[in-house]
Amino acid sequence: MTRKYNFSAGPGALPEEVLQQAQAELLDWHGQGLSIMEMSHRSDEYVGVAAQAEQDLRDLMGIPVNYKVLFLQGGATAQFAMVPMNLLRGASCADYIDTGIWSGKAVKEARRYAQINVAASTAGNNYTSVPAQSELQLTPGAAYLHYTTNETIGGVEFDYIPDSGDVPLVADMSSDILSVPVDVSRFGLIYAGAQKNIGPAGLTVVIVREDLIGQTLAGTPSMYDYKIHADADSMNNTPPTFGWYLAGLVFQWLKRQGGVEAMAELNRRKAAKLYAAIDASDFYGNPVAINNRSIMNVPFTLADATLEKRFLELAEAEGMLNLQGHRSVGGMRASIYNAVPEAAVDALIDFMQRFEKEQA
Ligand code: PMP
Repeated sequence: MTRKYNFSAGPGALPEEVLQQAQAELLDWHGQGLSIMEMSHRSDEYVGVAAQAEQDLRDLMGIPVNYKVLFLQGGATAQFAMVPMNLLRGASCADYIDTGIWSGKAVKEARRYAQINVAASTAGNNYTSVPAQSELQLTPGAAYLHYTTNETIGGVEFDYIPDSGDVPLVADMSSDILSVPVDVSRFGLIYAGAQKNIGPAGLTVVIVREDLIGQTLAGTPSMYDYKIHADADSMNNTPPTFGWYLAGLVFQWLKRQGGVEAMAELNRRKAAKLYAAIDASDFYGNPVAINNRSIMNVPFTLADATLEKRFLELAEAEGMLNLQGHRSVGGMRASIYNAVPEAAVDALIDFMQRFEKEQA
């Protein structure tokens, strides 16, 4: 068996060590004679696994005690609806920053429930930057301000935390959670689908300040009510037990790597060398403003788009998978999440340089 380098945007690469651990304990979890997937979520053993995962995430992110950590289902997409259903709290409008496809989808869904004001949009420059704080047109009385910290498709990442004053700040961190340290206390709510930096698809993590929950919109289904999940320790119904367990293994792996600070240093180094290689040649290009370039998702184009197919075929033959850009934008994209080793980035750069020479 040879594991290849996986540059998938999501579900993305998982740490090999974690997969090995899951494999080793798959048939017989800790001498219990059954797998974690076959165990009651109400058993002492599973409740212990779940609580440990939450504690490890709290440690890694420095989550203050007045925040609930929820392990839910429905992906980040369900959060596009759950956020307005729970956080409008009687207000009629909310502000959203539009920086690309994912924040656009969040706006579209939220418009089913409230008046949504776009506080700033970078559509005008084809989503190649984030708006500056001074460009945000915040609405007095808005229920919250929503933004997407990292646009997974465009490869655009905020280099600052917007200041929303007293208005709770809500962030979709699906593709950059745990990649760099963040001050959780700046946020009212953070959500992330698991399948990039946390674990397998099927699990969604929500971190929410306690005082914001419990005032849902009339008619909100109980499964979409944060308070119901919080009061039940995310076990209002059967949670995604395997995903939660595996997320716990990833959190422990992250701790062994030195935590989020150490990951950030590595992530910045990985991204810097890949962007440097792109910038060093006219053959490759990336249009994103330097300060807003994502350190997780690195889209790039080839000067001659007809070579894309060959690029992908040769890369795959060398064991580098999933470099194709999103179907909506084309080009290439290397997602270099926490679990993508630096050696994968080095191999990609080496391949890109050889590919360019061969075309000359
Ligand atoms: N937001 C962002 C930033 C994403 O990258 C994605 C998935 N790629 C989503 C939301 C949607 O997530 P899900 O598929 O888990 O609903």
